[in-house]
Amino acid sequence: MRKLIAGNWKMNGSLAANQALVQALRAGVGTPACEVLVCPPAAYLAQLQQLLAGCDAIALGAQDVSEQAGGAYTGNVSAAMLAEFGVRYAIVGHSERRQYQGESDLLVARKAQQALAAGITPIVCVGETLVEREQGLTGFIVQRQLSAAIAVNAARLAEIVVAYEPVWAIGTGQTATPEQAQQVHALLRAQLAAADATAARQVRLLYGGSMNAANAQALLAQPDIDGGLIGGAALKAPDFLTIIGAAA
Ligand code: PEP
Repeated sequence: MRKLIAGNWKMNGSLAANQALVQALRAGVGTPACEVLVCPPAAYLAQLQQLLAGCDAIALGAQDVSEQAGGAYTGNVSAAMLAEFGVRYAIVGHSERRQYQGESDLLVARKAQQALAAGITPIVCVGETLVEREQGLTGFIVQRQLSAAIAVNAARLAEIVVAYEPVWAIGTGQTATPEQAQQVHALLRAQLAAADATAARQVRLLYGGSMNAANAQALLAQPDIDGGLIGGAALKAPDFLTIIGAAA
């Protein structure tokens, strides 16, 4: 299966910085073996669509999408609107949104459903906190989070992407070891297989959490790690390009 390397820019960037970053990525990406994705803040999607015009190697993604199709939902952005700007993927349920916006498993599942309805691939994020890991709850937490997405999107399971992002590894410089990550990915694969064995073989499972140029290769070599969701290192073109190279 073709790996997916996705950059989550979070709330970073500016018109000038975005232009410089995309220019460097376009110049260095060549014809990658993996799929490459950049997810800028929503305010810059139109700019990114223009910057990526004619570039088949890099796809455009969003960091979030509304669970509603449209209407009186101030501040939200619908999946159909994202699709109009060439958005192909949408991250849903990132731990920062679960933590700061109080997003529930069901809400995240409904966001994924809206994305699918508009032809956008949802990247459903799951992951445990440090306390949960220390209490031995990792499997329980990630499977609970994923079960809502499975239940709401059962008919289209093969079309989703899942990102395992241990909260304790995000932006901390503390990465899960390849073995720790693989163990959770195998659990998630088994959970998907219990719902739909065919779909489970098609769903890409990304690892996220301080993936960088130095550790990407070992993580991406694991049998159930089908790509990466990268925050900090996605803002530095040389680092992101190295990770893309490691996903060959
Ligand atoms: C993320 O934001 O999804 C992420 C994994 O961030 P970082 O790579 O900076 O840990």
